[in-house]
Amino acid sequence: VDVVDGNFVRTVKNCIFSKSIPTPLKAPLRLVAVSKDVIEGVLDLDLSVTQSDHFLHFASGGKLPPGSVPLAHRYGGHQFGYWAGQLGDGRAHLLGQYTNRKGETWELQLKGSGKTPYSRSGDGRAVLRSSVREFLCSEAMHFLGIPTSRAASLIISEEQVWRDQFYNGSVKKERGAVVLRLAKSWFRIGSLEILTQSEEINLLRKLLNFIIKEHFSFISSDDPDRYLVFFSTVVNKTAELIALWMSVGFAHGVCNTDNFSLLSITIDYGPFGFMESYNPSFIPNTSDDEGRYSIGAQASVGLFNLEKLLQALGPVLTKKQQHQAKMELEAYNIIYQMRVHQLFRAKLGLLGEEDDDAYCIAFLLKMMEETQSDFTMTFRQLSEVSPKQLHNRDFSQVEPNLHCLTCYSLLIMAIYQDVNPRYVLRNWMAESAIRKAENNDFSEVELLHRILSFPFVTQETAEEAGYAARPPQWAQELKVSCSS
Ligand code: AMP
Ligand code: MG
Ligand code: MG
Repeated sequence: VDVVDGNFVRTVKNCIFSKSIPTPLKAPLRLVAVSKDVIEGVLDLDLSVTQSDHFLHFASGGKLPPGSVPLAHRYGGHQFGYWAGQLGDGRAHLLGQYTNRKGETWELQLKGSGKTPYSRSGDGRAVLRSSVREFLCSEAMHFLGIPTSRAASLIISEEQVWRDQFYNGSVKKERGAVVLRLAKSWFRIGSLEILTQSEEINLLRKLLNFIIKEHFSFISSDDPDRYLVFFSTVVNKTAELIALWMSVGFAHGVCNTDNFSLLSITIDYGPFGFMESYNPSFIPNTSDDEGRYSIGAQASVGLFNLEKLLQALGPVLTKKQQHQAKMELEAYNIIYQMRVHQLFRAKLGLLGEEDDDAYCIAFLLKMMEETQSDFTMTFRQLSEVSPKQLHNRDFSQVEPNLHCLTCYSLLIMAIYQDVNPRYVLRNWMAESAIRKAENNDFSEVELLHRILSFPFVTQETAEEAGYAARPPQWAQELKVSCSS
């Protein structure tokens, strides 16, 4: 831990964390969303606890849990392809580790809780809209079965923060919010990169040993190849995570190395988006002019990020191990392709491996692209066609342009509804809930949270709200940017 106390912005050397005290949001505070699953299921707390003043202050940075030494993590990262130097938790505070009754250890973190040594030119705050998006999406991803950080609560205050509006070049006052979020670990590729870049190799080794001991416990601490095995695990799991993203049409938006978890969970929900019309060039973030992080680029960006991880590990690997690690990296594409193939076969209910499976999948995707079919609903509807409809060749519920014989043969096997969600957090759904929230109506945030907790189950309220349909007209031109 950094020896200097205080939240003033500075370049920090030779540490992994800096002590940093949250700056409480100004009263009045209001708890506007809470995840029952996290509070009861992960934290083992009674849900009623969240209604107490105590919780309100604890979950917004006003009061610290007993024994907590709040920390801001020092990390660096490659942003949009270039080394960006020191980044770090500029608006997040780690409160500590929490072990639940199942013996699982979770790291509790506040986001939007004020300045730290890593705030650079930022104000240490997060606005309501981006906090709602993070809260809803991280929970939705969990229920889609995708490894992710979790969100426990969302607290807002009247405290104003200034944000660039991006679309019209103006700056506007918005309300600040704090999300209490949890992950098994918040370490990222950038956590290691900064140590290598700063030539702090003893600290690099120390952090790696710690991460391996805590989170890769199958690797023995005296294994001379432990860093190599660690690397190979991250390569595999990153490929797996990105394949899972692709299987639900999720584009992260900012796949910088500081936003790529060493545990390969989804972290840092910013200008993410779920693809609607199938389009491999879908770019969720309007600030990403070149489409570096388009949905179809995610797999190769994953490889780029893993190359950066390997560079960071350079000083602790022997020549031979580096060579082996490069070979591991060469297997990345194959691992990724295999996993994507498996996931899409499951989405189409293709049992038993057939030679032309890959062709069928590619054909369907191509057709979806040409007909601009909705990604989520095409797969869902294919899995909802009943045997009777199949027999009568009645595909009236399926996206109109997909009524064809090839589909018919796919349909016969498309029976899996539990792998094809009916509801994902479409941008317009988040936007609609946010607009109400800005007027102090959080009912739609709650509704979305509830519905997205059962993404595979058809729900009447969701159908009425049009959540399993294409976006309404008003939402055609919606955009999200990095402003958060
Ligand atoms: P992100 O693009 O969200 O991954 O953020 C990149 C870096 O900017 C991280 O170091 C963040 O902590 C920092 N950052 C983003 N927004 C703010 C803010 N409002 N105040 C301070 N730091 C911020
Ligand atoms: Mg980040
Ligand atoms: Mg962010």
